[in-house]
Amino acid sequence: RACDDAAASVEGFAFWEAPSVPLDTLHHDLRAALAENQLALHLQPLAALPDRVIRSYEALARWTHPRLGDIPPDVFIEIAERGGLIGDLTRWSLNVALRHLATLRGAGLEVRIAVNLSVEALQAPGFVEQVLDLLHLWRVPGQGLVFEITESALMRDIVRCSHLLAQLRQSGVRIVIDDFGTGYSSLAYLRRLPVDGIKIDRSFVQDMARDRRACRIVETMIDLAHELELKVVAEGIEDEATLELLREAHCDLVQGYLIARPAPAEDVIERRLRADKA
Ligand code: C2E
Ligand code: CA
Ligand code: CA
Ligand code: CA
Repeated sequence: RACDDAAASVEGFAFWEAPSVPLDTLHHDLRAALAENQLALHLQPLAALPDRVIRSYEALARWTHPRLGDIPPDVFIEIAERGGLIGDLTRWSLNVALRHLATLRGAGLEVRIAVNLSVEALQAPGFVEQVLDLLHLWRVPGQGLVFEITESALMRDIVRCSHLLAQLRQSGVRIVIDDFGTGYSSLAYLRRLPVDGIKIDRSFVQDMARDRRACRIVETMIDLAHELELKVVAEGIEDEATLELLREAHCDLVQGYLIARPAPAEDVIERRLRADKA
């Protein structure tokens, strides 16, 4: 029962109150939800600094359970990873994200969409080919797609991951290291990884305005990334003061509730296309 072990280590379970539900029930229900297309995809914009122009969005999966209501993504992603469903879930996210990307690009918008990629999905046989097939199917260039892969997962199997990521990059797809700063990786590794950018974890970002040391750490990460010609995203920006500090530190992109909360993809796109026409 791999899923039972997962429960203890899922961060989300600490605050998510549905303790009476056995995890294999959730696993079973998630499998059904995937088969019956019951997941939803939300989009959250990333704003480029200094002018806050929006040229990319992060795709975030949502699951509303028929009886239990909204299940936190951290919880169902972990269940999917441990229970052999992450390949299907990733393909679902990618397919829906590319469908939306095709709509946006079809309207003449040069935007990108970032999809979260678990190492288990990356390493499944044939994954790179599936990505190329889907890009072809939706007729969008690789340049429109970004994968975010968490630092800790990447470091667990750095050699194999690097090889696969390099293959994806050959088609123009970009790779960003997610939750940067939390995975104990040596900064020196950055030089050797086939990646285009880092996304600084929100735990650092959210302390910036009240903690000088957190601020200095973020500034140092940004400077180092820039030395290595990597782009920097900061996530979890909730106030103007933090945005201003990041602007001064020459951060490239910011994401967070201050800019916009994640919202259903259809709504985000409809608004964007309307704003663009006006
Ligand atoms: P993540 O990739 O680090 O995603 C960022 C999380 O921060 C999202 O949580 C987002 O809703 C939240 N967030 C955005 N702005 C703010 C802010 O200003 N303040 C705060 N406090 N939070 C903010 P969410 O949607 O709950 O997703 C949690 C995690 O689940 C994601 O973390 C990602 O690792 C995973 N996930 C979500 N969708 C997918 C997916 O389709 N595939 C995979 N493999 N993982 C996914
Ligand atoms: Ca992410
Ligand atoms: Ca993150
Ligand atoms: Ca995270």
